[in-house]
Amino acid sequence: MEFKIANAKLELIHSDITDVEADAIVNAANGTLMGGGGVDAAIHNKGGPKILEECKRLREKEWPDGLPTGNAVATTAGNLKAKKVIHTVGPVWHGGLHDEAKLLRRSYWNTLKLAAAQGLKSVAFPSISTGTYRYPTEEASRVAITAIKDYLEKEGKIEKVTMVLFSERDLGIYTKSAKTLLGVA
Ligand code: ADP
Repeated sequence: MEFKIANAKLELIHSDITDVEADAIVNAANGTLMGGGGVDAAIHNKGGPKILEECKRLREKEWPDGLPTGNAVATTAGNLKAKKVIHTVGPVWHGGLHDEAKLLRRSYWNTLKLAAAQGLKSVAFPSISTGTYRYPTEEASRVAITAIKDYLEKEGKIEKVTMVLFSERDLGIYTKSAKTLLGVA
C-alpha cells in the first residue's frame, strides 16, 4: 500500500529487506556494529564481508565505545542492490517508560537525515526494535510512521520511504496505523 506525504511516498510492503532495491536499506543494528541476529544477520550474510570491515573502521575511528541508541551511520552495501546500508540502533523495550518512543523516533529521524545528507533519495526500513529488542509492533508502527511523516513534511530531499515488513501480520499492523495516522491512501 502507498501513501503520499508532502512530495514524497511512503510504501508498505511484505518482503525480505535484503531483496529490496532502494538507495539505502536500513539495518536494525546493535551498538557494537559487529553484527547480530535477525535483519542484521541477513544483511551481513547477503551483503558480504565489506560491510563488517567498514563497521569495524567506524568503531575504531569514530565510535570506540559503540554507536549510541538512536544514532545512525552509513557503510557500503557490499553485494546488496542498495547503494548504502544505514545502521541504526533502536531501543530495547523495557515497558515503555524508559524513553523508548523518543529513542525509536530518533533512529528513524537520524537515518533519514543521514540519507538526505548523502544525497540518497529512497530509503527502506525494517521494523526497528520489534524483534530481539521486543518493542510491541503496534506501538512501534505508530512511532515509525509519525517520525517518517514529520521528517518528510519538514524537508523534501527524500522521495520515497519503504517500510519492509517481514510478515503479513506486521504488514497488517503497519497498514492499520498508517491509515489512521495518514488517512486512507
Ligand atoms: P531488533 O534487535 O531491532 O529488534 P531484529 O532484527 O531482531 O531487530 O527485528 C526487527 C524486525 O526485523 C522484526 O520484525 C523481524 O521480524 C524483522 N526481520 C528479520 N529479518 C528480516 C529481513 N531479512 N528483512 C526484513 N525484516 C526482517
